[in-house]
Amino acid sequence: MEEVLLPIPKIQKIILNNEHIEMMLEETRKTYPKEACGVILGLFEGETAKAQEVVFTKNVAESSVSFVIDVEELYRILVQAEGEGKEMIGIFHSHPTIAKPSSADKPFMEINPVVWVIFGTLSDRIDMAAYQWFENVIHPVEIVVEH
Ligand SMILES: [Zn+2]
Repeated sequence: MEEVLLPIPKIQKIILNNEHIEMMLEETRKTYPKEACGVILGLFEGETAKAQEVVFTKNVAESSVSFVIDVEELYRILVQAEGEGKEMIGIFHSHPTIAKPSSADKPFMEINPVVWVIFGTLSDRIDMAAYQWFENVIHPVEIVVEH
């Protein structure tokens, strides 16, 4: 039977656990003021994205206020994820500013309509938020933290 790729539905929430959050906080702090980035692997279940693993990737952007995931690194991660029955449900990156998609993020959100988890670092606080591009609109996705 042929495998059919279904479009990603509108996602209302992403479920992450404490460990995922701690890892992303750590990566954000470590990389600051450059942007940290990574891929969130897991499963889509209806309108929910359930995270199983966060894999950080090198930021190969030349600018310090953007991020670019190395294509070959991404390919290796996705091949391994497929072998483990996981899919890319989200993209993580951090901002040296607020946790909102930048104008540079928007075209990439359209190409990759998974859940975009953004950590913002304003003053000494780190905020997190999630968004998805769906039908030409960027809408917020609720972050649910499982303990
Ligand atoms: Zn961004």
